[in-house]
Amino acid sequence: MLNAHVLVLNRNFQPVSVIGVRRALCMLYVGVARALDGQFRQFDYQSWRAISAELHDDTVGTLNRRIKIPRVVVLQVYDRVPMGRIRFSRHNIFVRDDHTCQYCGRRLARKELNLDHVVPRSRGGKTAWENVVASCIDCNFRKGGRTPAEAAMKLVRAPRRPRWSELIHPPRLRAQYREWIPFLDPVDASYWNTELDSDE
Ligand SMILES: [Zn+2]
Repeated sequence: MLNAHVLVLNRNFQPVSVIGVRRALCMLYVGVARALDGQFRQFDYQSWRAISAELHDDTVGTLNRRIKIPRVVVLQVYDRVPMGRIRFSRHNIFVRDDHTCQYCGRRLARKELNLDHVVPRSRGGKTAWENVVASCIDCNFRKGGRTPAEAAMKLVRAPRRPRWSELIHPPRLRAQYREWIPFLDPVDASYWNTELDSDE
């Protein structure tokens, strides 16, 4: 159960990240986040524990301290999105390129990806957002010290400096649980949030 994932929303209910159960419970405990139930009600640690006592599914803890695993938590503070410079890091380049080799288009594990200078350094290519892409080891090797044109290899996408939103909202954040759907897809969100006609 501790291997489950929890979706983190900011106060505007926009997805921010996916974290592990331990960290989510910790955020709940210290009051940084609240748990969200299927009816979009928010619970602090105490009230979440109280409703957990009535449930039997998906709980963790010891005998008298069981707590339901939240699927979604909502941050209680505006997470400060630093609007300054985006760190030019291996991590951010891989996120920008969606862990996809920019030559053959294969999506791979990090350890199978390299960074490639589109215009090789030996030819004056800069180490910059606009000239560095994720590349698989095969493509990296095949391209060697050549430009893409010389190697007859086409880039999937021209590299550029990413926007914050692209790094914060991973484009392939897939719903792992039904409870995440309303927050990941705007079409689904309206479906789930629309008030239904009741008989009363
Ligand atoms: Zn490749």
